[in-house]
Amino acid sequence: MNFIGFIFPPRCAVCRKVLPQGAEAELCSDCEKELPRITGPRCRICGRPMNGSFAMPWCADCAKGRPFERCFVPFRYKGAVRRLIVGAKYYGHPGRCRFLAGEIAAALGDFRPDAITYVPQSRSTDRSRGYNQTRLIARELGKRLNVPVRGVLRRKAGGLHQVGLTEARRKLNAKKLYLPGKERLSGTWLLVDDVTTTGATLDACCRILKGMGCERVFAAAAAVRMKGDTD
Ligand SMILES: [Zn+2]
Ligand SMILES: [Zn+2]
Repeated sequence: MNFIGFIFPPRCAVCRKVLPQGAEAELCSDCEKELPRITGPRCRICGRPMNGSFAMPWCADCAKGRPFERCFVPFRYKGAVRRLIVGAKYYGHPGRCRFLAGEIAAALGDFRPDAITYVPQSRSTDRSRGYNQTRLIARELGKRLNVPVRGVLRRKAGGLHQVGLTEARRKLNAKKLYLPGKERLSGTWLLVDDVTTTGATLDACCRILKGMGCERVFAAAAAVRMKGDTD
């Protein structure tokens, strides 16, 4: 073990347990086993788990139409993933974003956008946290895919946070919260968020991207929060 490895041994991104020497993984094997991966039937458009045995290809929300072609999402927002995301957001462990980006990259399969962007935070949130977790996830994803990452959306200062609002309020709020940048865009874009709940934020941002000129817009989130998943 080298000196740095001795002083700062690699630790599990969820539970902080010291990882075995030379481990490639960001998580220990216990946390890895506990990951709430989405398995089983899911909506082919938004990626949310669906119950019911009759196989509708998409959920009721997507049947009404979405501004994105598809949303890629590897996890439910609970257990180890919730701890990982809450930890990255509020306790300043940006290294955890590498793991989440790797999992999103795996969910994308062969899909490659021309460019990646992310859901913006307000400047005051950026300042208090020192970084924007969603931007970091997007940047890590861009590095892995070798695709440029650009911040092309803006968020109004002082808007209501989506967390804690009802579904109808979320839709209204999201529409007012995000604004287009000045430039014209083209090609296929991927919008990244950390957690999606109703999809209202993804809808609002993807509509804006299309209005800015993108021909096709896809979305990706590290986790989807379903009813009953704790906040
Ligand atoms: Zn662990
Ligand atoms: Zn859906």
